[in-house]
Amino acid sequence: MPRAIGYVRVSTDKQLDNTSIDKQKEEIEKYCKKHQLTLVHIYDEGAHSAENMKDRKMFKEMYHHAFDKEEDIDYVVVFKSDRISRDNLDALYIYKRITEANKHLICIADNIDTRDKNAKLLYHIMSLVAELERDMIKFRTSTGMEKNHESGNLNGGKIYGYYTENKELKLDPNEAKVVKYIFEKYAIDQWGYRKIASNLNEQNIQTKNGKQWTITAVKTILNNRIYIGEVKWRGDYQKGKHTRIIDDNLWNETQKILRIKSYIPEKLHPGSYPLSGLIKCPECGSPMVQGNSSKKYKYYQCSRNKNSGKCACSSNLINKEYAEQFVFNYFYKTLKSLNLTVPITNTAMSTISSEVEPIEHKIKDIKIELQRLTKKKSNIISWRSDDVLDEVTFRQQMKDIRNEESKLFQFLNTLEKQLEQRQKPNLVENVSFAIEKLEVFFEVISNEDKKKILHSFIDSIYVNRGNSTKERTIKEIKFKFDLEYISQFYQSA
Ligand SMILES: [Zn+2]
Repeated sequence: MPRAIGYVRVSTDKQLDNTSIDKQKEEIEKYCKKHQLTLVHIYDEGAHSAENMKDRKMFKEMYHHAFDKEEDIDYVVVFKSDRISRDNLDALYIYKRITEANKHLICIADNIDTRDKNAKLLYHIMSLVAELERDMIKFRTSTGMEKNHESGNLNGGKIYGYYTENKELKLDPNEAKVVKYIFEKYAIDQWGYRKIASNLNEQNIQTKNGKQWTITAVKTILNNRIYIGEVKWRGDYQKGKHTRIIDDNLWNETQKILRIKSYIPEKLHPGSYPLSGLIKCPECGSPMVQGNSSKKYKYYQCSRNKNSGKCACSSNLINKEYAEQFVFNYFYKTLKSLNLTVPITNTAMSTISSEVEPIEHKIKDIKIELQRLTKKKSNIISWRSDDVLDEVTFRQQMKDIRNEESKLFQFLNTLEKQLEQRQKPNLVENVSFAIEKLEVFFEVISNEDKKKILHSFIDSIYVNRGNSTKERTIKEIKFKFDLEYISQFYQSA
């Protein structure tokens, strides 16, 4: 019987995935039993703290087991491909090592089995797409965090409830009343964020920037320690000089509820609404998101309506099933009618080359440095033979140069290996296959990946105005690129 090892770990991103360690183990055991594999061992990263997970001790052990004792193992089985690595290049490298060693990688949830040729390619593309998307998420959260930081900062942002005079916070009595109202509605009446925002908007109360209240704006208020008289100074909260708005009782009660609510997992199914953000509200143009749907009927809903209530915009519900069928079909048809293999490959390659270039530069620099050292050596030798240098100095200087050289050679070696890992000759072939079999490809991949792919191609989806859901049909799908132009351009190039 073929032999397998498993690998499990908890995702660091709890919101996106919460398959427990036990569940992962159970799935791996079930899989091995069903496919008649002897499960030798499951490497469990989950037993370690989050700190340890960064160096992924168990992963290294698993890796050594798979490659150092080659004859021992035929399969590496994980629950989902991101258990192996969230990093694309790592993933590709591992995948390459596994196949080169005539072993197989099985990702149960992703339907990936490297014994199957098609699956190999799915794995390639998914890793690439995941990488692109992750960079975007990184970008978004980093800019988002910057904003949050600013609003908590006295010099930067305006604080609702106060105005600034000579860099000091002065109480704005009307706004202070609203702040108190928000805390009371949340902690005492147990209203949700949305209800509070919507209620304020109905009362025609605006935020500091003259905008409508949103879920985020309410959340920000409830979490701001400024309202209990503290200020942020060099990352820490300290007693400030300004008047507090919220007393300890109300604050503590609020924080208690915030904590309890944060433990309740949100009903978040990544990708189960793949057109979220792409469909634009026919009335206000804001992105449409997962609507307050029933079991039977599911809808996309205007995000302004969802966040700020009916004062901001109507719900403008769009039938989920209809919209997705329409968009998917249009997407298949368009992509197949144009020959996009080359442009897509180029996009992927440019992502990779964005990493290749800095490495190539570094290699060039090192080579120049090595040349300089060689020249220096020959100079020293000639100085020695002309007796400009004494024997002791000569030896010392030669030793220093050789040390420096050997360090540089080592570094060069590492960089060249890294470069090699980033060059993937089969990409074109793989991409063209995925497009040819696009429907199949879409059926196999997870909802989350579907969403990633649609978002990387489609810019906006416009909807006709209408009084009923039936009347709200799709008017236009706008791609991020001029696909026809790209296709023709590359065909003729
Ligand atoms: Zn709207």
